[in-house]
Amino acid sequence: MPENSDAVYDLAVIGGGVVGCAVLRRFALAGANCVLLERGADILGGASKGNSAILHTGFDAPPGSVELACMRAGYAEYLAIRERLNLPLVETSALVVAWTESERARLPEIVARAHANGIADVREIGPDELRRREPNLGPGALGAVLVPGEHVIDPWSAPLAYAHQALANGGTIRRNAPVEGGAFDGERWTLQTPGGPVRARVVVNAARARGSSSSSTSRRRRSSGRSFCRSRPSGPRAFSWRAPPLATCWSAPPQRIRRTARPRPWKRGPCAR
Ligand SMILES: Cc1cc2nc3c(=O)[nH]c(=O)nc-3n(C[C@H](O)[C@H](O)[C@H](O)COP(=O)(O)OP(=O)(O)OC[C@H]3O[C@@H](n4cnc5c(N)ncnc54)[C@H](O)[C@@H]3O)c2cc1C
Repeated sequence: MPENSDAVYDLAVIGGGVVGCAVLRRFALAGANCVLLERGADILGGASKGNSAILHTGFDAPPGSVELACMRAGYAEYLAIRERLNLPLVETSALVVAWTESERARLPEIVARAHANGIADVREIGPDELRRREPNLGPGALGAVLVPGEHVIDPWSAPLAYAHQALANGGTIRRNAPVEGGAFDGERWTLQTPGGPVRARVVVNAARARGSSSSSTSRRRRSSGRSFCRSRPSGPRAFSWRAPPLATCWSAPPQRIRRTARPRPWKRGPCAR
C-alpha cells in the first residue's frame, strides 16, 4: 500500500515475527490504527517460522523474571484463544531426561524451580515410569522430570492467525519495508524505510530476535510417543534458548493511543477476539 506521507499511525510495529504479529493483533483489536513493517518479502521469515513448537509453561525460567511472566501470560492466552482461532494443540507433556548420575542429581532442583514458578504438577519420575511413558527412549535413561503442561503447537499458524485477525480489524502490514532509522520529534516517530517515511506515535521494536546459542549444541531426542523429550549432554536442564527479546516500546505510553470505533467483521466468527 503506498504510504500517505501525512498519515500518522497510533502504533508502528517493527518486525513480522510472532511477537510483532501478536502485538499488531492486540492493538488492532483495541481499535488502534497500526502498521507492521517487515523487512522481508513476507512475514514470519525469522525464528518464528521454524522453532520447536513447544508451548512452554515456564517451568525452568528464572523465578520472578520477565521471561517467566511472558511465558505464563503467553501460555494462558494461547489456551484461551486457540479454539476461536482454530489453532492446534497436541497435548504431549514434556520430559527432561537424565542420562547421567550428575544429571539425575539435579532433577529435584528442576522440580523445585518449577514449583517456585507456580507450575505445581511438575514432578520427578523414576526409570520405570519413564520407560512406561516413553518405551522408545534409548538405553541408559535414569529418570526424568515430567512436565504435564508442556504441549506442541504449530509455530506457523498461530502468528499467521494473529496477522489475519489484525488485518481484519484494520491493521496494516507492509512487507519489503526494512526500518533503516528513526527519529522522535517529541510527539511522533518518523521511521525511515526504502518506500518512504512511516510516522507513528508509538513504535514497538519486535525485530531483534536472537537465535539460540545453545540450540545448535543441543541434542534433542524426540520419541514416537506422546511426550516431547529434551536432553543434552551437559545437563538435564537440556534444550533451551535465550529468552525471547522483549518487544521494546519507544516513547509515548499506550494510553495515548486513540481508540476508534472500528467495524469488527469477524466479531462472531472464528477470528473473534
Ligand atoms: C531453534 C529454535 C527453537 C525454538 N523453539 C521454541 C519453542 O519450541 N517454543 C518457543 O516458545 N520458542 C522457541 N524458540 C524461540 C522462538 O522461536 C522465538 O522466541 C520467537 O520466534 C521470536 O519471535 P520474534 O517475533 O521476536 O522474532 P523473529 O521471528 O525473528 O521475527 C523478527 C522479524 O523482524 C524482522 N526484522 C528484522 N529487522 C528488521 C528491520 N530493521 N525492519 C523491519 N523488520 C525487521 C525480521 O525479518 C523478522 O521477520 C526457538 C528458537 C530457536 C532458534
